[in-house]
Amino acid sequence: MASQHTIAAVVSVSGVGLHTGVKVNLRLCPAPANTGILFRRTDLEGFVIEAQSRNVARVSYATSLMKKGVLISTTEHLLSALAGLDVDNVLVEIDNLELPILDGSARPFVELITKAGIRPQRARRGLIRVLKPVEVVEGMRRLAVYPADVFRVTYLISFPHPVIGEQCVEFASGSSDYAAEIAPARTFGFLEELEMLRKNGLIRGGSLENAVVLDRKGVINPEGLRFPDEFCRHKLLDLIGDFSLLGRPLIGHVVAERAGHAMHAQLVSRLLRERNSWKLVTAPEAAAKPLSEPDPVFAIN
Ligand SMILES: [Zn+2]
Repeated sequence: MASQHTIAAVVSVSGVGLHTGVKVNLRLCPAPANTGILFRRTDLEGFVIEAQSRNVARVSYATSLMKKGVLISTTEHLLSALAGLDVDNVLVEIDNLELPILDGSARPFVELITKAGIRPQRARRGLIRVLKPVEVVEGMRRLAVYPADVFRVTYLISFPHPVIGEQCVEFASGSSDYAAEIAPARTFGFLEELEMLRKNGLIRGGSLENAVVLDRKGVINPEGLRFPDEFCRHKLLDLIGDFSLLGRPLIGHVVAERAGHAMHAQLVSRLLRERNSWKLVTAPEAAAKPLSEPDPVFAIN
């Protein structure tokens, strides 16, 4: 997509936050070109937080943004839906600190954005094109990004559990269908961890309506799974949301092995710091030009 996109109308949805359990109203509004994704806390005099890596706060079970002590929690599923549908500029208004979890996937957000409609804008898209590999390793966990011609993700997870085990999911911009293959995958958790999470003030809004819950033997949700590898698809969904905090779409191949929010955030911030490992390009050249041919004419910096 050569031009930037926003949504065509204002749309809204209400729900509860997964971790806080508080009710929240969310509104998506069109935004001018080059705005990016902005969050606005309407309950705090319209305080604005940009969806940018520099504002990433706590990353453990969710990706939260913080600026001057103001928090916006669990942003990754909405950010994933916006990135997955190639929406560049949106103002997200919320009247509480955590985004609604809805059904635990990005599908309700995809439906909301689709209902609003997606509208092209005059400005061309700027993208971050990876030139050299950048990697984060923590024991058995690894997350790396390599040069490639499109945005691609290979995600591998491994859980010693009878219904998970080893799973690997691939996504490639242009050939994969984000709305059908990735967005419906729900967040998941283990029954034996629920107590500990609740004690730590987390998942107060969690239920079988908004998460896949596993006991030692299997899935306890009566409706079962949406995909046999729903777990790995959800990790990939989270990664797409977390990587949108780069502030621009990425052209590169991301390989994740047993990663999570904290590592996603770490790689995003390392990539932005390592300025010689990427360059900003504008959209048409970004998609068409072979890797071996750097073209300074189209480099924005
Ligand atoms: Zn998630």
